[in-house]
Amino acid sequence: MNIDLINNIGLTNNVVICSHVNPDGDAIGSSLALKLYLERKGKQATVVVPNVFPDFLKWLPGADGILIHTKQPDQVKAALDAADLVIVCDLNQPMRLGGMEDVVMASTAPRILIDHHLDPNTDFCKVIVSEPTMCATGEVICHLLSQQGELDDISADEATCLYCAMMCDTGAFSFNSNRPVIYEHISHLLARGIDKDKIYRNVFWTASEGRLRLQGYLLYVNMKVLHERHATIMTLTNEERRRFKVKNGDTEGIVNIPLQMLGTKLSIFINEDTEHPGIMKLSLRSVDDFPCDQMASRFFGGGGHKNASGGKLHCTMEEALERVKAVIETYADLLK
Ligand code: 5GP
Ligand code: MN
Repeated sequence: MNIDLINNIGLTNNVVICSHVNPDGDAIGSSLALKLYLERKGKQATVVVPNVFPDFLKWLPGADGILIHTKQPDQVKAALDAADLVIVCDLNQPMRLGGMEDVVMASTAPRILIDHHLDPNTDFCKVIVSEPTMCATGEVICHLLSQQGELDDISADEATCLYCAMMCDTGAFSFNSNRPVIYEHISHLLARGIDKDKIYRNVFWTASEGRLRLQGYLLYVNMKVLHERHATIMTLTNEERRRFKVKNGDTEGIVNIPLQMLGTKLSIFINEDTEHPGIMKLSLRSVDDFPCDQMASRFFGGGGHKNASGGKLHCTMEEALERVKAVIETYADLLK
């Protein structure tokens, strides 16, 4: 990976940073870090995302200026029309832009991709900065800043966003986070004045009543344990969402909980899509070598990382459940 970010952005004045549908902590943290960085360099920068992001990210510096395409389509289009550079952050293919795909792709401004997902589509951006060995797009940005000798110049707010990005994509450094350089970056971020304990509390130790009760319900009532396959399946319908007053973000991370059970290798969470009730969205999580990404791409039209991936099924919840059980069965060898 070798890119001089300054050279690429040096002549631009108006940058739009866009990220993926259902934006997570890495999507929002990385995008905001870039925005704050560019603003410090005297540029105008706007973050646009396809749909709403979780409440537990709203405290991040700059989050109140994020444009949400489902709510502010005209403003998103205007921002893109005015842009002389588009940075695509934390996604590897245009489809991940969700409902914003057409408007982003229609922009004539050059695009730079900054990402860490496998198999980036190399056609849709002029410059590709993709490093799948890295734990988060936040780490890719730390690496770029470090390469340029700028990591020690960033503001505490930029550092907070970068830490949040890496913390979110590694479950607070509990998976995919064994590379020592991550902690070298973190030591620089701490020196810039971040309060990492507070960042953790704000993101991972805050829950609405609805989330806590939903968590109890999902584990007690809905979780199916396929003991022979060391796998679990949880389901959540829109009717249940309404019953528990589930807000956006309330389900974040719940898919990981079943992996706490000793011996469990795979956890799948089937979520009825809130906007398209005929679509079931799947979240897959695994430990060790079980290839979630392969399962997601072969059977669920999706993809992702080895231990965290996602996909979709177009059917009812009952059918999705049966389909998922059958797919798990085809992996019996790996799930012994
Ligand atoms: P989540 O379970 O949090 O929705 O997604 C976990 C990871 O799986 C994401 O970071 C993303 O890399 C990947 N992912 C989720 N949904 C999809 C999808 O529909 N298609 C692809 N290619 N990847 C997905
Ligand atoms: Mn990411």
